[in-house]
Amino acid sequence: MDIRLTNTLTGEKEIFRPADPKRVTMYVCGPTTYSYAHIGNARPPVVFDVLFRLLRRTYGESHVLYAANFTDVDDKIIAAAIESGRPAGEITAHFERIYRDDMAALGVLEPTFRPHATEHIPGMIALIETLIAKGHAYRSESGVLFNVPSMADYGKLSRRDRDDMIAGARVEVAADKRDPADFAVWKASKPGEPPEVRWPAPFGEGRPGWHIECSAMAKATLGETIDIHGGGRDLIFPHHENEIAQSECAHGKPMAHYWLHNEFLSIDTEKMSKSIGNVKLVHELLQHYAGETMRLALLSAHYRKPLDWTSDLLDQSKATLDRLYNAFRRIGSAEDVVAEPPAGVIAALSDDLNTPQALAELAALATAANKAERADWPRLKAELRASGAMLGLLQADPEDWARGGASEDAARIDALVAARVAARAAKDFAEADRIRNQLASEGVEIMDGPKGSTWRRT
Ligand code: AMP
Ligand code: ZN
Repeated sequence: MDIRLTNTLTGEKEIFRPADPKRVTMYVCGPTTYSYAHIGNARPPVVFDVLFRLLRRTYGESHVLYAANFTDVDDKIIAAAIESGRPAGEITAHFERIYRDDMAALGVLEPTFRPHATEHIPGMIALIETLIAKGHAYRSESGVLFNVPSMADYGKLSRRDRDDMIAGARVEVAADKRDPADFAVWKASKPGEPPEVRWPAPFGEGRPGWHIECSAMAKATLGETIDIHGGGRDLIFPHHENEIAQSECAHGKPMAHYWLHNEFLSIDTEKMSKSIGNVKLVHELLQHYAGETMRLALLSAHYRKPLDWTSDLLDQSKATLDRLYNAFRRIGSAEDVVAEPPAGVIAALSDDLNTPQALAELAALATAANKAERADWPRLKAELRASGAMLGLLQADPEDWARGGASEDAARIDALVAARVAARAAKDFAEADRIRNQLASEGVEIMDGPKGSTWRRT
C-alpha cells in the first residue's frame, strides 16, 4: 500500500517514493538541551515515531535510518552556562538525560542515530569552507554569514516574500551584513564565553550557527540527500529554509525530497511555548498521568491539525485506553498467535498518518473483541496487539493496566532509580538529587546499600 505524505515543499499530499527502498532516510530536528521539554515539544518526536514505525513495517526494520539530533551548543545554552557558572556540557548532559527518560515514557523508540552538534564541528567547518569557496558565504566581523542573494531559489520552502522573511527572521540588521536576509553560519567567539564553546577554524575561533549544525549532522548520519525531513511548523522558517540553503548550495543537490511539519499543541488555543509561559512539562505531567495516556492524547488529532491540551483530553484518553485494555483483558486468555494489523489501520496511517482514523479502527477492534466468540479470540488478541504496536500503544499487560497501572508504576520507579544510579556514575549530582526529590514527593524512598539502590513506599 502506498504511503501518502503532505509535503510542505509542494503543498500537496504526495505518494512517498524513497530514493532507495533499501535505505529510507529521515531526519527530525531535536531539542536544544538547556531546559525541560514541554508536552508541545513532544509532539514532533511522537508523531515522527509513528512514521518511523510505519516506514519500518513497510520497508523492513533494517532499511530505515532515522536521525534525531541534540542541539548541544547554542546561544541559550551559553547564556545558561554563564549564568550558572556550570560547564555547558554539564547542563546539556543533564537535560539530555531527562529528555531521554521523558521520550521513553512516551513510548518513543530510539532513533537509529542521535547525533550531538558538538561531535560534528569538523563537518560544519568543512561545509562552511565549501560555501565560502563557492561564493555562498563570506567572512565578516561577526563570523561567517550566508549570502542569501547568491541562491536563486532561496525561500522555496516557506514561499514568503523577501520583506516577510527579513521581518520573520527577527535578526538584527547587523552592520556587517551585505544583505539584511543574510544569516550566521559561524559566530565568532565573544569575550566572556566559556572555553568549551570555542572552536578553532580557518575563518576564526567561534561556534556554529544553529542551522549549519543540522545541515552537517544530516549529511554525516544520512547523506547529502535524504528522503524525509521533519519538525514542528515553526521550523519551516527560518530554520529549515536555511538548512536547505546551506546544504543545497554546498552539495548542488536537493537536501530532502519530503518536508513534513506538525501543527502546534496549544493551551486555550494559544501555542504552548516557553516565551508565552503556558507550558506543561513532560516530566511533571508524568507524575500524574501514564506516559501511554499522554501519547494517545498527542495522537488523538491529526499531526497537521492544532491540538488543545486540556484535562478533558487526558481524561478521555485514559478512558479510551481503559476501554481498549478491557477488551484485551476479556480475550486475554486466548493462545498467542501472530497476526498483521488489520488493513484499515495500515490504510489510515498510510494516508498522511491519519492517527485519529487509526484509533477509530482500534476502537472497532475492541468492540469486536467484546462480542467475539472464543474461536475468534486468538486472532483478535493478536490484531489488537499488532495494531497498538503501530501506534506505540497497548503493549502493557492488560491486567496491570486494570490494576491502575500498579506494576507499570513500579516499572517507572525502577527506571527512575536506575536513571539516578546512572546520573551518579556520571557525576551528575543535580540530576541524581532531582530524581531522589521527585520520588520523595511521590512517597517513594530510595535506599542505597552495598548491593545497589532499592526503593520502598513510605
Ligand atoms: P524548540 O525546543 O523550541 O526548538 O522546539 C523543539 C521542537 O518542538 C521543534 O520541532 C518545534 O517545532 C517543536 N515545538 C515547539 N513548540 C511546539 C508546540 N507548541 N507544539 C508542537 N510542536 C512544538
Ligand atoms: Zn534542524
